[in-house]
Amino acid sequence: MGHPRPARDASPIIRTALGSIPAYRPGRSTPQTYNTPQTYKLSSNENPFPPLPGVIERAAAAAQRLNLYPDLRCTGLVHELATRLDVPEEHLATGTGSVGVTQQLLQVTCEPGDEVLYAWRSFEAYPVLTHVVGARPVQVPLTDGEAHDLDAMADAITERTRLIFVCNPNNPTGTIVRRAELERFLDRVPADCLVVLDEAYIEFVDDPDYPDGIELYRDRPNVCVLRTFSKAYGLAGLRVGYAVAHEPVATALRKVAVPFGVTQFAQDAAVESLRSEEAMRERVAAVSAERERVFGTLVEQGWRVPPSYANFVWLRTGEQTDAFSEACENEGILVRAFGGEGARISLGTPAANDHFLWAAERFLKQCPDVRRDHR
Ligand code: PMP
Repeated sequence: MGHPRPARDASPIIRTALGSIPAYRPGRSTPQTYNTPQTYKLSSNENPFPPLPGVIERAAAAAQRLNLYPDLRCTGLVHELATRLDVPEEHLATGTGSVGVTQQLLQVTCEPGDEVLYAWRSFEAYPVLTHVVGARPVQVPLTDGEAHDLDAMADAITERTRLIFVCNPNNPTGTIVRRAELERFLDRVPADCLVVLDEAYIEFVDDPDYPDGIELYRDRPNVCVLRTFSKAYGLAGLRVGYAVAHEPVATALRKVAVPFGVTQFAQDAAVESLRSEEAMRERVAAVSAERERVFGTLVEQGWRVPPSYANFVWLRTGEQTDAFSEACENEGILVRAFGGEGARISLGTPAANDHFLWAAERFLKQCPDVRRDHR
């Protein structure tokens, strides 16, 4: 009776949608070979500074309550964010890093077969998480300037499109979309399709025409802003991010959140970090100054580099990408390589950046061909 017994050597059935998932590859943290005793991890867009003042003390205090579950609703953090952003508390949803919130966004919008639209290359988690929910990624190539092609993206919208990511600044190319073009794009998106403005690197942007997603979301119920404490606030290890969206989006996001996923450490550290806004701004200014120095030096060396508005730079090394990444690794510098396309190099301490610049110059001298792959 009932279900026929499977063979003894059968394995549990895993959803077929997972077969097409390109596995998420985190930035490498240990070099395989190196000629130098010093290693610089410039592969994960981490903040080179330690947590902001007061954060470690606050997290240590939270350690006294490790026997208890954290505050399910992240009450203190939600209140602090709502006040600072001037949005209703009901419009906030938290998650385990903004990548956790990204997963929630897909869960609340997509049925199997629905389409998720984004520029490519962009944040690696988009295709992975899209496949997890059985939806179909629709990837629109970046322009020759390594930026979003918003007109082509608008043209690619179909009646199956449920979710659109606009990664601004774009990871890994560092480019931004500006206010006027973004507004024009949003005007073309149907009201039943959710647009996520992924602003993981917003604090590093210093362009007057950069659109603040919070201003855009206010009178657009199909716009959601995604932010994180992992980058400018330097809390990548604690896993806390959030979305700002109108209801019913925010309500749905809270429904699918992993219960108690955001630890009390993360909640308390995030609140304390928000209260250290000035120190955060100083550190961001230091990283941005390094970005301009690294950018200028790379250009002087002969590289073509898209202007970056984030805490990393992008080199289109094309076919030479693996060779470039290996050459860097041999010098103890870990970069993020996207085989056949390019390499993303996070900005580290001035010493780390100097070392990278030295390796980049050496590579260019040994392999001037790398220029051929420039767009
Ligand atoms: N969005 C973008 C564009 C990112 O680059 C990253 C981190 N690499 C994230 C979201 C996720 O960051 P986290 O989960 O640490 O908040």
